[in-house]
Amino acid sequence: MSKIIDGKSVAAAVREEIKAEMAGLKEEGITPKMAIIMIGDDPASAFYSRSIEKACINAGALSEKFSFNGAGDEEEVVAVLQKLNKDSSVHGIMIMLPLPRGINKQRILEAVSPLKDLDGVHPLNRAYNLSNNEGLFPSTPQSCIEILRRNGISIEGKHAVLVGRGESVGKPLIYMMLNQNATVTVCHSKTSDLAHHTRQADILIAAVGKPKMITAEMVKPGAVVVDVGINETEDGGLCGDVDFENVLAVAGAVTPVPGGVGSLTTALILKNLLKAIELGKKIS
Ligand code: NDP
Repeated sequence: MSKIIDGKSVAAAVREEIKAEMAGLKEEGITPKMAIIMIGDDPASAFYSRSIEKACINAGALSEKFSFNGAGDEEEVVAVLQKLNKDSSVHGIMIMLPLPRGINKQRILEAVSPLKDLDGVHPLNRAYNLSNNEGLFPSTPQSCIEILRRNGISIEGKHAVLVGRGESVGKPLIYMMLNQNATVTVCHSKTSDLAHHTRQADILIAAVGKPKMITAEMVKPGAVVVDVGINETEDGGLCGDVDFENVLAVAGAVTPVPGGVGSLTTALILKNLLKAIELGKKIS
């Protein structure tokens, strides 16, 4: 195994699998389609939604974007979601987050059918993740699992230390890692002596949003380090939560930023679209 874990090659392999599955569905007369719900004008969400649309085209899936101005459109958003839930030609719905201020986030997330919930944000899917049942789960924490699995890094029996307990990455990842039989420690902003905990990790996962906060001294020699963080650098580039060059000298393997976990996220949204079709078939 290379010390630098290449997310791009994992993503390429996942994309090939998706393409093949989508082609198989077309032979059954099913054209996978997702609806993308964009509320407001968050630039990162706009960028992400465009990359999902592009990924749909490349994989042979359809996508339709529904754009809304902001909190004033809440009733209209709910009405559109209710219509999409009933539309059998739409297999998945992707709500672009974060939502603008003033909108009732819980109401929007719960308005999506759990069977079409492409980023696993509905409370029912969160509960299925917690109880290790079948469901649709968020793509970024799934990317962490996939990047480890597809690089032959076993999770079972390992001590995984998560830094960050955010709703979109850290929290769902707690249960995903537990479901893979890791022993899990969760650290957050109130954790005292963070380095003491991180140094115990066989697998260290950082999902914080603080540039290079995981330093070489915080890593056990030989550990696998997964960097979820995406931070802008002063020169307009990107860096993770891990001090990559220095940590690389100590760790057994590290995911880079960019080119690591983030490379896989969009592909896993399409995997979820396929999963949504499978779940839909089971109940029809
Ligand atoms: P959140 O802001 O929701 O969560 C951040 C977490 O970090 C919180 O749990 C917080 O603790 C914890 N934290 C903050 N400061 C410290 C500290 N000094 N020591 C330890 N823990 C700390 O962020 P997200 O979960 O949404 O995202 C995390 C990172 O992942 C961001 O950089 C984001 O850009 C990136 N990301 C990357 C994606 C990808 O595709 N690769 C997708 C989504 C996110 P507390 O709970 O106590 O406040």
